[in-house]
Amino acid sequence: MPANSLLIAGGTVIDPEQRLEAARDVLIKDGRIEDMAAGLAKKERLSGVARIEAAGCWVTPGLIDMHVHLREPGGEADETIASGTRAAARGGVASVLAMPNTEPPIDSPALARLLAAKAREAGAVNVLVAGALTLGQKGERLTEAARLKEAGAVALSDDGRPVMDSGLMRRAMEYARDAGLLVIDHCEDASLSQGGCLHEGAAATAKGLRAIPWASETVMVLRDIALCELTQAPIHLAHLSCAQSVAALRSAKKRGLPVSAEATPHHLLLCEDDMPGYDADFKMNPPLRGKADRQALLEALADGTIDAIATDHAPHRPQRKELPLELAAFGVIGLETALGLALTRLAAKGALSRRKLIERMSCAPARLLGLKSKGSLRRGADADVTVIDPAASWTVKPPFESLSRNTPFAGLRLKGRARATIVGGRVAYAL
Ligand SMILES: [Zn+2]
Repeated sequence: MPANSLLIAGGTVIDPEQRLEAARDVLIKDGRIEDMAAGLAKKERLSGVARIEAAGCWVTPGLIDMHVHLREPGGEADETIASGTRAAARGGVASVLAMPNTEPPIDSPALARLLAAKAREAGAVNVLVAGALTLGQKGERLTEAARLKEAGAVALSDDGRPVMDSGLMRRAMEYARDAGLLVIDHCEDASLSQGGCLHEGAAATAKGLRAIPWASETVMVLRDIALCELTQAPIHLAHLSCAQSVAALRSAKKRGLPVSAEATPHHLLLCEDDMPGYDADFKMNPPLRGKADRQALLEALADGTIDAIATDHAPHRPQRKELPLELAAFGVIGLETALGLALTRLAAKGALSRRKLIERMSCAPARLLGLKSKGSLRRGADADVTVIDPAASWTVKPPFESLSRNTPFAGLRLKGRARATIVGGRVAYAL
């Protein structure tokens, strides 16, 4: 057997795409899934092949995080492609979608190609490129969807900034649909959220801070759904945070519209009350909402109304966080904690079966982004595999692979983590 083979032996394969949950050995060859069967590891011909022992572990399609800020180019003090993808690998994430709100924004085919080339060279995991929706992410003139697609982009987004011009958004969705790219919208009406830093609720009032009402998000969710109905062009709603947005999404899906959505671990697990004092590691956009909002997100994730878990990994160096709350940067890191949090706080608590957890963190993002050879362990698929030890206990604490440490989950004891992350047949991380 050639040296470019790898055997994952003794684990339980959980592959929602194949509706499979069973003891299987997995053979990888030349970067693809070559074979999967019970007892494969005992075969004489495979005796010399490199192997990962996975007894007691789950063997799943490589996790895909469709909302990640790698900060390169321009924000290398917060994160780089190298550090961000090492954080991904440690978290069991084999592919990340890099958001284009860098400095400069990824708004041209040349920049998209440059980023992809840099990622091939420096990335520990697959880096998928999202192009900007508008030039400079200024919300004025559209980028060229078809040429960004040719340059390797798989999605378009002005994430970090809302697209306030609805006519522009309509055209963006139509061009993106024709080019075969997913539009990912950061739903926020800036005229409603302006100046706010926390959810408009009791906690913000008690702290005496300007707040962001739920309607700031839901107004744009409803706008996007209307545009989706008008154009029949797919739209993906990023980081949903409130019950009213979930209700709008559920009704749109009932009507058969091509709308999809993601939720982050922090919105699924934390509420406005959870911020200790004025701790900026709990400040993000959209903000942590109320208990009923969190409950609505959990129910929507379980019933499939919300398609995917994505982290919105948003690293910031301490100088951008150690400020009065109004001035501190929005965002938290998430790549290294998402899987452990989902296992501990969702799967172990019965909020989400393990099969659904893998579906929401791998199969769904692959489907939404049109990644036909990912999100499954079927024969011939890319050999992106996450080996998960569901029993491993660990504590969220530095050092992190991320250059930043702005997490609201510091000190938390979790159960379950990646034992190994395999990317294109290569071991990107092993515990
Ligand atoms: Zn965003």
